[in-house]
Amino acid sequence: MLRLSLKRKFAKIWPSQQKDRKIVLLYHSLEESPWALSKNKFIEHMKWIFDHCLVLPLADLIHAKPIADIQVALTFDDGYSSLHRYVLPILEDKKMVATVYINTGWMGETVNDRKLSNAQRGHYPNDSFLVWPEVQDLYNSGWEVGSHGVNHHDFTSISYDLIKEELRSSKYHIEKYLSTNCEHFAYPFGRHSKTAKKILEQCGYKYAAGAKHGALSASSNLLAFPRINIASDCSFDDFKNIIKGKWDYLGWVHKMRGL
Ligand SMILES: [Zn+2]
Repeated sequence: MLRLSLKRKFAKIWPSQQKDRKIVLLYHSLEESPWALSKNKFIEHMKWIFDHCLVLPLADLIHAKPIADIQVALTFDDGYSSLHRYVLPILEDKKMVATVYINTGWMGETVNDRKLSNAQRGHYPNDSFLVWPEVQDLYNSGWEVGSHGVNHHDFTSISYDLIKEELRSSKYHIEKYLSTNCEHFAYPFGRHSKTAKKILEQCGYKYAAGAKHGALSASSNLLAFPRINIASDCSFDDFKNIIKGKWDYLGWVHKMRGL
């Protein structure tokens, strides 16, 4: 992992790419976990991209033609409760929507059944998850609800049968609760394999998000497309540089790490 100071040094020399740029941002949660982004930083981000970019629903962005402005879609992994409490009203204020990829095994039935995160499973520590009525609220507000599996497994380290079960069961529950098609998936830890992609297709998913830093291009694989993680330690200047492509060198680092 590159240190923040080193990332900033590389960003100084890496060129920006502000035309024909389509990017998918990856967030997790606000406020609760020590790893979470602060609410104020998130508001600052949303205000800036609202003013400087075109924000689209994910599937629209994937199929959009490149234009002079930077086009952005917002995604949130795991399904933390702060999405309903903070993110939904902030985005509604700007008439923006996002995609949430949920771990269906961790969504409670009611607020009395809210589940706490488990850092050993790779969740953000000391956080809590959405419950199904809140997932329904997000969906009713125009959000896309995709699967992040049932139980946050690394798909490169589990069996063929367990990958299949994770993909089928999570899709089934999302479709049952929301009465809609679930075509979107995000790989836990961004880790994917040829086998996982094959099973995804068999299960009826159309789009799967990875975690390799970079912009979408005509040659992007829709079953493992790149996303740009926005970490809580990035400054507002870092954020603007990330959006403009000055951190895109990270894609090479991630490629070496097999993402
Ligand atoms: Zn995750």
